[in-house]
Amino acid sequence: MTSPSVIVWFRQDLRLADNPAVQAALVHKLPIIPVFIEDTETKAPYSNGGGATRWWLHHSLAQLAKDLEACGSRLILKRGSPRKVLVDLAAEAGAQFLHWNRCYEPHVISRDTEVKQSLVKQGLQVSSHNGSLLCEPWEIQTKTGGPYQVFTPFSRAVREHPVPVPLPAPRKLPAPEEWPSSLKLEEFRLLPRIKWDAGFYEAWTPGTTGAQRELKRFAKSAVRDYKIDRDRPDHHGTSRLSSCLHFGELSPRQIWHEVCAALGEDPERPQVAEPYLRQLIWRDFGHHLLYHFPQTVTTPLREDFARFPWKNNSANLRAWQRGLTGFPIVDAGMRELWHTGWMHNRVRMIAASFLIKDLLIPWQAGADWFWDTLVDADLANNTLGWQWVAGCGADAAPYFRIFNPVTQGTKFDPEGAYVRRWIPELEQLPEKFIHAPWEAPAEILKPAGIKLGSTYPRPLVDHNEARKSALEALQSMKNKSAE
Ligand code: FAD
Repeated sequence: MTSPSVIVWFRQDLRLADNPAVQAALVHKLPIIPVFIEDTETKAPYSNGGGATRWWLHHSLAQLAKDLEACGSRLILKRGSPRKVLVDLAAEAGAQFLHWNRCYEPHVISRDTEVKQSLVKQGLQVSSHNGSLLCEPWEIQTKTGGPYQVFTPFSRAVREHPVPVPLPAPRKLPAPEEWPSSLKLEEFRLLPRIKWDAGFYEAWTPGTTGAQRELKRFAKSAVRDYKIDRDRPDHHGTSRLSSCLHFGELSPRQIWHEVCAALGEDPERPQVAEPYLRQLIWRDFGHHLLYHFPQTVTTPLREDFARFPWKNNSANLRAWQRGLTGFPIVDAGMRELWHTGWMHNRVRMIAASFLIKDLLIPWQAGADWFWDTLVDADLANNTLGWQWVAGCGADAAPYFRIFNPVTQGTKFDPEGAYVRRWIPELEQLPEKFIHAPWEAPAEILKPAGIKLGSTYPRPLVDHNEARKSALEALQSMKNKSAE
């Protein structure tokens, strides 16, 4: 295969529409070789996707392959060291150009820098593009030229950049005369061997077709009530597009413009869409922080938190993971996560706060569990979320603000519908006690079929006592820092 060609390396941009790397490749008017590489070489914290994201990736790649076939192309699958794979592929395919869309995880940045150096040495022109953020981390700076650590001014700075209109999807991609060899998708072994994923199939349709359908559903109706509904785990009030964004089945620009168009709003001055679009800016903020403070993946941004007296209690961690803490809103969230690979944002905050502040378990243990179990596990957003709840990150909730799982449950799941959905053993409990079953008298528990400590656990801690302990731990950290 000697005629010149262009390689497009797909990574977290598993779509053809609004894909700057694909558009840039088309400009060369040469055959295009789309490739996805399973990276088996890069070793760094969180360089391996968890079981849930691997499940998603399998289906998303299958859809991308179909989308490419519809354009007269193919998805070439390779495994190994991306540097070596691309060097070999470029030689085999006579490639002169390579395009990819940038990722911002610290280990990916180092890897891509090496890949680029090797390929440039080989005589290729390598170009990277912004396919997944509204603004790249280096485009936005404070007045003193540093990174932002506070969301509101960051968000104002992002809003100064108009959101570009999404690029069209190509109808046809020029194919080479002869295709390079490819693995079969099954050879990646992304799907679980033990079938724990039945609930995932009920909840999700990974890939661009499912992503577009969800976006249309949300933009047509739910976005209007987002401001009120976004905190209600018992409603279907958020977009549920986080995995589509993580894998790049949709770009934030596509979402931004689709939502504004559906509401008939000016993308530069959205009003009804504003509270929702703000969340896309939070996503950019997470990437901004990850890029500028890569150490935060494992260590707190606020260094004094390195002295926090955590308790590594594996039995309590296990109870939290399995949704057996005895606090219904926490347990419902952890079971929703296990069953579907997703958890509502409000419940993520409540469950994370419970782990960190009621159980005093390090936030990193929670981040690890989410990494393994979330279909939308994303290094930027997960790090941001955990450090935010722990109070040790940028613009974080102060540590002393401790969520009360009972009042949070009562406020955001007032009828207990969410709890009943995920904890069937509490289904018959009246609304009054649904968020605090231990307060229900025996004559209520018995007919509801509940035996505390047997059918459903007693609370793992007394929240008021746990709150006091958390505040004492905070004080002891402050004292140590002052020494
Ligand atoms: P919507 O409310 O519809 O928001 C739209 C999009 O905006 C989301 O898809 C997401 O990309 C982005 N977004 C929303 N909220 C946030 C936020 N707080 N921070 C950053 N971006 C946001 N999100 C992930 O995508 N991956 C994670 O691994 C992740 N881990 C988290 C861990 C904790 C402890 C917490 C508190 C939050 C975490 N989040 C994470 C953020 C948030 O919970 C999810 O993005 C959101 O629940 C996804 O649902 P949705 O698509 O319906 O969100």
